[in-house]
Amino acid sequence: MTLDVRAAEFWEPAKVEAELRRVYDICAGCRRCVGLCPSFKVMFDRIDTPAVDGDVEKLPAADLAEVSTSATSASSATTIVPTRRPTAGRSIFPG
Ligand code: SF4
Repeated sequence: MTLDVRAAEFWEPAKVEAELRRVYDICAGCRRCVGLCPSFKVMFDRIDTPAVDGDVEKLPAADLAEVSTSATSASSATTIVPTRRPTAGRSIFPG
């Protein structure tokens, strides 16, 4: 999924949720950004609960949303993210 607000899938909640789970799963296996933005601590705390036990597919939708709303420094991760920098149509998250 790309960050193209003109694409129909960008506005489909099910597609967005699938993309969040894909990205969170990658981040859970990396955790390099944990100190950069509160959203990462929220993400990893929720993923590490006994009910989820590392399986991002088990994250309740409310937890997915909480991670997104906890972000306070969207550009901070770009200093160390070992993937591409944000460009038109691409997320800063791994893709
Ligand atoms: S954004 Fe990239 S570097 Fe940061 S935790 Fe996720 S996968 Fe790791």
